Amino acid sequence: MSAVKKQEHIAVVGAGPAAIRAAELLHSKGCTITLIHEGPKSGGNIYKQQPEGFVRKADELYGSESQKAKALHQTFDVVKAGITVCSDTTVWNAWRSELYLHGPDGVKKLPYDRLLTATGAMDRVIPLPGWTLPGAFTLGGSQIALKHQACSIGRNVIFFGTGPLLYLVAYQYIKAGAHVAGVFDTSSFWSKAKASMGMLTDIRALRLGMRYRSYIKSSGVAFAEGITPLEISGEENVSGFRFKTAAGAEQFIDCDAVAFGYGLKPESQLPELLGAKMTFEPQQRVWQVEHDGNGRAGNGLYVAGDGTTIGGADVAELTGELAAFSILKDMGHTIDQDRVAGIQHVLGQKSRFRTALNAAFPVPVEQIKALPDETILCRCENITVGEIRSTIKDLGPHEINQLKAYCRPGMGRCQGRICGLSAAELLAQETGKPIEEVGLLRGQAPIKPLPYDVAAELVEDELGKAIKEELLRG
Ligand SMILES: Cc1cc2nc3c(=O)[nH]c(=O)nc-3n(C[C@H](O)[C@H](O)[C@H](O)COP(=O)(O)OP(=O)(O)OC[C@H]3O[C@@H](n4cnc5c(N)ncnc54)[C@H](O)[C@@H]3O)c2cc1C
Repeated sequence: MSAVKKQEHIAVVGAGPAAIRAAELLHSKGCTITLIHEGPKSGGNIYKQQPEGFVRKADELYGSESQKAKALHQTFDVVKAGITVCSDTTVWNAWRSELYLHGPDGVKKLPYDRLLTATGAMDRVIPLPGWTLPGAFTLGGSQIALKHQACSIGRNVIFFGTGPLLYLVAYQYIKAGAHVAGVFDTSSFWSKAKASMGMLTDIRALRLGMRYRSYIKSSGVAFAEGITPLEISGEENVSGFRFKTAAGAEQFIDCDAVAFGYGLKPESQLPELLGAKMTFEPQQRVWQVEHDGNGRAGNGLYVAGDGTTIGGADVAELTGELAAFSILKDMGHTIDQDRVAGIQHVLGQKSRFRTALNAAFPVPVEQIKALPDETILCRCENITVGEIRSTIKDLGPHEINQLKAYCRPGMGRCQGRICGLSAAELLAQETGKPIEEVGLLRGQAPIKPLPYDVAAELVEDELGKAIKEELLRG
């Protein structure tokens, strides 16, 4: 191997499978790394670790993936001794080769030479009446309650939406002894049956999915496919779920909590802030960071894992390693081309599986068209579907950022991370434009909510002053 030309400083954001595999390879080549992540412990979303004092075994926490979880945690324990780790630290801005952090030591800037973002994904939500009631959770949120805190979100829980996480989380709740009142999938049996041939490229994953489905069905829990959600009912808390069956009959089921979601969406705000090109992925109807196939997304900018393309944990590990190879190559190292080719080969297979999986669980965006006017779409700013419809009719915004400027969806604390895709779908539906033409909400700092007093701590340079003014104004 050739000598390192310059000791560059590499910043890695994330501590999930993608970031850890990248850090492992970079560390093994003697690189200087700072790894920043917002959790207290490593593992990311799938391999999230329980808090101190909790003593559940890996098998109970991670089920079929417990060996992978243990391997990844062990890797991190070795690697962290040779790198700088900033835990409990949020990266809330990126600008001119510096990351803006907020953590236990307050606000700091971190200069870097190369940046790898491996920031994962979050639940994709489609609003419906009642979704802001206490007791309504996302699927991922309900899983975090169980995995992290060993809590059920309610005494009588309904799961609905679509995607692999729907089946996995419902299975985990039933297995943990929680009372589940029903599992309702918006995707039809036939969409899954048709896609199953394509899913044969990953037999293990297909078998796992089928196991969860038959476990749910055999456990006596109410189960239906091809449903249309109508309402999460309740006055002060969730008290029931109303939906239409595939045959068109309306049903109401009592419950005191619901968890819902429609797959995942990449957390891509950091590369966006740094000018990475975003492209529309028509199958999942999400925007994702464009890269060269090896994780290069711009000058000194690299991306990996679900934050780039939703692919699951195994893909995240591989793309993390691939991005690390790209970093090493760009720094003048000789890299193992056979290993790179091997990773590319596996990623090709996994991508065929993912295409079939997405076809099995299509995102039911047509539901947005049928939403009653009074449904809240942007919960940060309390903007209803009706307000958005009348703004579109009266002012004719032609893209999503203009709609945001006119009536504020996506203007609040979450910066549109939750409502942005649905607001864009609504705009596309109301104007008859293709969704790609409606565009995406521009990423804007702070990309995650910051405590108010942080404004006062902001560094006193020009950018800091500008951001401070903006925060104080908002
Ligand atoms: C809530 C949730 C639950 C999931 N559960 C499962 C499951 O049970 N089984 C399964 O197969 N798949 C699950 N998935 C999908 C799975 O987590 C991913 O496919 C996989 O973990 C992707 O790995 P990653 O390294 O790309 O990102 P992740 O594992 O998601 O890790 C992202 C990392 O980035 C950090 N981060 C993000 N933004 C910032 C920021 N601004 N500043 C600092 N740090 C940041 C986070 O702290 C985290 O460490 C889940 C996804 C979600 C969102």
